[in-house]
Amino acid sequence: MSELELPVCISCKEPILPDQKGVKLPCPNCGEVVFWRCRKCRELVNNYKCPKCGFIGP
Ligand SMILES: [Zn+2]
Ligand SMILES: [Zn+2]
Repeated sequence: MSELELPVCISCKEPILPDQKGVKLPCPNCGEVVFWRCRKCRELVNNYKCPKCGFIGP
């Protein structure tokens, strides 16, 4: 088995561990990029920026 690749939080750039229950969401603007956000960033409502279209959310 190769190393498990962890998704990275779009806001804080931290890897999201499987037990952290991060959420996966498509960009609300372009829908072409799927982001991961960690629970902490959701709770803090941290901003994120779509690397494709530059949309800044939440
Ligand atoms: Zn985060
Ligand atoms: Zn986008």
